[in-house]
Amino acid sequence: MFIDGQWVEAAGGRVFEVTNPANGAVIGTVADGGGDDALSAVEAAFQAFPKWSRTTAYQRSAFLYRAWQLMLERKEDLARTMTEEQGKPLKAARNEVQYGADFLLWYAEEAKRVYGETIPSGRADQRFIVQRQPVGVVAAITPWNYPVSMITRKVAPALAAGCTLILKPAESTPLCAIAMFRIFEEAGFPSGVVNLVTGADPAPIGDVFLTDQRVRKVTFTGSTGVGKMIAEKAAAQMKRVSLELGGHAPFIVFDDADPEHAAKGASLVKFLNTGQACICPNRLFVHESIADTFIGTLRSRVAKMKAGSGFDESVSIGPLVNEAAVAKVERQVEDARAKGAVVECGGDRMMDGGLIGGHFYAPTVLSGVTPDMQIYREETFGPVAPIITFSSEDDVLAMANDTTYGLAAYVYTRDVSRAMRMFEGLDFGIIGINDINPTSAAAPFGGMKESGLGREGGRDGIAEYLETKLGGFSI
Ligand code: NAD
Repeated sequence: MFIDGQWVEAAGGRVFEVTNPANGAVIGTVADGGGDDALSAVEAAFQAFPKWSRTTAYQRSAFLYRAWQLMLERKEDLARTMTEEQGKPLKAARNEVQYGADFLLWYAEEAKRVYGETIPSGRADQRFIVQRQPVGVVAAITPWNYPVSMITRKVAPALAAGCTLILKPAESTPLCAIAMFRIFEEAGFPSGVVNLVTGADPAPIGDVFLTDQRVRKVTFTGSTGVGKMIAEKAAAQMKRVSLELGGHAPFIVFDDADPEHAAKGASLVKFLNTGQACICPNRLFVHESIADTFIGTLRSRVAKMKAGSGFDESVSIGPLVNEAAVAKVERQVEDARAKGAVVECGGDRMMDGGLIGGHFYAPTVLSGVTPDMQIYREETFGPVAPIITFSSEDDVLAMANDTTYGLAAYVYTRDVSRAMRMFEGLDFGIIGINDINPTSAAAPFGGMKESGLGREGGRDGIAEYLETKLGGFSI
């Protein structure tokens, strides 16, 4: 762990093992921190805050810029660590490192654009000045599916704003976090400004983050269940929270779209990270008049996808994170099959050809999916594309919005009026119109409804770490 500028063992001296999800091999041991370690890290961040928050934006920018440079220099090493620890294909891991680095560069620049304002007063002797100040000590909790970019998406804007921070990465991907903290160390951030606490059990560390008065903000990416628990506990001290939670993205293909082009898009975004991305489509709504072409194209593309080790260049499907994830996918597919869905391809756990030691599920296309099936309601977080047919725009909009989630949605249409109606009508925070990658460090990412609170990336991303302070001056 990295606390107050030092690499340290857990206070209790314990360690835990990290495994490769593609074959089960142990690839490292990491400090198994707990509540005492979290307290030390909070103390370090609290002590470092006054000085760091008074550095100039230009000074903070220089540190972030240096970290960005180091990340690009280490791109290949970081990507290899990620493939070994998380399982995604090496090419996707390189893309993620680049995406992660983008946040450091973008917020190195944005640090200098935290503007205030003056407001005219109704009183001749009064002047209003609004200034933005850092919220204070931030605790960040990140998931395993994007183990590098989810770190920089939080660390970069928090540090740019003048906050200090403690990170707790997911227990399955601490090695990526350690590699990132070697970069932060080398970039020269002062002691206590960025701290890392790893642990096999997140609860005691999370408890310290949520109950220690010195932590003023908790930023979290992960499941909706844990997000709700964080929001509830944070309320006791009125801590600020940013929550990026689960999704259940609709992917809507209208009859005026090219079904082959749309199927190609679906095959790319649905199977991204083996379906383990919160913006992966989870319900594919296809107009009944073009469904056969769409399904045929998707099936032929998906059936060719090869699963295996991410170090094999021909592989596009890596393992799922663990056995529980495979079991969840299996349960949803069996339920759909039993209720009448057609398995167009896949539909099974993969154990042949050396995959038995890993957590593999075949890339799967299901047609004939209906609202009574579990997969219609639940987030899958796995490589299954469930297809539902529709006949009218009003119906599909109602079906797409009929979920407690509201993160990403995708629409394929060539009718610009319909595109605008869908953009405005869909209750989701991110809408791709004929576009499968509506994300960037420069753009606000986040969800509505139970997909979360707040936004990461862009101008909104730094605002999450700033307080607004009003000064009324009588002259
Ligand atoms: P998770 O909620 O189990 O874990 C996420 C993080 O929370 C991990 O670091 C974990 O250790 C920590 N955590 C778990 N219990 C905790 C507790 N009691 N106290 C403190 N921390 C705790 O989720 P996951 O399975 O790792 O990630 C998958 C989920 O994350 C999916 O639902 C996915 O949609 C969501 N996700 C959302 C986004 C987004 O930006 N909206 C991005 C990636 C993943």
